[in-house]
Amino acid sequence: MALRFFNTYSREIEEFEPRDPAARPIKMYTCGPTVYSRAHIGNFRAYIFEDLLQRHLELRGYKVNRVMNITDVEDKTIRGAREAGVPLRKFTEQFKEAFFEDARTLRIKRANEHPAATDKRYIDRMIEMISELISKGLAYQADDKSVYFRINKFPDYGKLAHFDLTQLQSTGRVKHDEYDKEHIGDFALWKAWDEADGDVKWDSQWGPGRPGWHIECSAMSTALLGDQIDIHCGGVDNIFPHHEAEIAQSEGVTGKKFVRYWLHCAHLLVDGQKMAKSLGNFYTVPDVLAKGYTGRELRYALLRVHYRVPLNFTWEGMEESRQALTRIDEWLARLGEVEKKENAQPPRLNAQRPTEAFEEALDDDLNISAALGFLFESIRETNRAMDQNEMDAASARAWLDWWQRINAVLDLEPETDVAIPDEVAQLAQQRENARREKNWKRSDELRKQILGLGWEVRDTKDGQKLTRGAGSA
Ligand code: AMP
Ligand code: ZN
Repeated sequence: MALRFFNTYSREIEEFEPRDPAARPIKMYTCGPTVYSRAHIGNFRAYIFEDLLQRHLELRGYKVNRVMNITDVEDKTIRGAREAGVPLRKFTEQFKEAFFEDARTLRIKRANEHPAATDKRYIDRMIEMISELISKGLAYQADDKSVYFRINKFPDYGKLAHFDLTQLQSTGRVKHDEYDKEHIGDFALWKAWDEADGDVKWDSQWGPGRPGWHIECSAMSTALLGDQIDIHCGGVDNIFPHHEAEIAQSEGVTGKKFVRYWLHCAHLLVDGQKMAKSLGNFYTVPDVLAKGYTGRELRYALLRVHYRVPLNFTWEGMEESRQALTRIDEWLARLGEVEKKENAQPPRLNAQRPTEAFEEALDDDLNISAALGFLFESIRETNRAMDQNEMDAASARAWLDWWQRINAVLDLEPETDVAIPDEVAQLAQQRENARREKNWKRSDELRKQILGLGWEVRDTKDGQKLTRGAGSA
């Protein structure tokens, strides 16, 4: 059966047809972390859902070109840097590193690109897009010197969120600081500098200022993936206003349909409430590790429920995850034993062979609960066959091969200390030399080569550290 997803835009399950039938990579944009503090595991539920999506597309033979941005300038990062009394870049760097570290712990594949909003290339693109929007009458500079998007001029505004603009109008102008806008729903594209911004500012034809959060994603997406992409993801809280604004900005500039499929995951909850920084009810990855759980166990706990169903985080849930993984480990060990007994006692019957049921469940809007249901049913069945000595070596091998195949999506291999291959170690050595010579270009090339071999190199105060990373450069 064909691959199909629930598209937030149409509110319907749609068959997946990539934009480019010539089988060029699928273009996927995923909104990344705002690096003003360490991401919580609610954020990681969103990133794990995106990881599952990418891996399943790959299992189904697609190549995926994924971009995940880093939001390193917006209100919260500026406030944080100011309160900490350090420059913005220094402030955000620590959380950016923490994000990559946690993502590795959770075995989330690195995106092909992780652009940062403050990179000059993207700031230039944001400015370019804003001027284009002004020239088309879709944006205006208000008395407060900030530039706003004029939502009344974009008839599709509200279509993603299924939002009625007249309702927005009827609420009146509630916030006094929005007096400059023509419409309460107009959102900032460029925020004029004020004292609270300190030295965080860029020059523009509208005076010094900084970009609004929404334009950052439109600029990075169109700069790296072009005017049109296949899939755009985030958590449901991103639908409005963030993704609605992204559509207005990107389509306002290009005149082309920005995204084909919008996929959003439901929230991770704590006691029935959204896990959020502002509510103080959150855990980070290190918080969970400190309780004695592994990244693999947390990955499983965040992965196991269908992405459109809210997931309540509990410690009992973590225990269940641990038990589920133990069952998998014991099953794999047993299959391994049977596989080795090639000429031992001949089995009376061949145990059931694996089918495509796991992949087919994922084809159905990533129905991971059904896919895992099938995995555990297979474990039960094959364990019974092994109990009764009805499994032969070839069947055991077929199940082990099947596990390898589905594990490309799950990535739940037991944790092992893997030796660093010679080739990787040599490249790392060359990179260290390049860095000593301050040859940053070469060092970056080598980092990418190492990443291509499935390893990740990090620079710490004790020198380079190599870890097994997923994905390629
Ligand atoms: P932020 O750093 O706040 O921009 O959020 C990063 C990503 O995490 C976005 O895609 C959000 O929609 C998502 N997100 C935030 N809180 C949760 C949560 N409790 N559960 C699932 N996803 C979330
Ligand atoms: Zn975004």
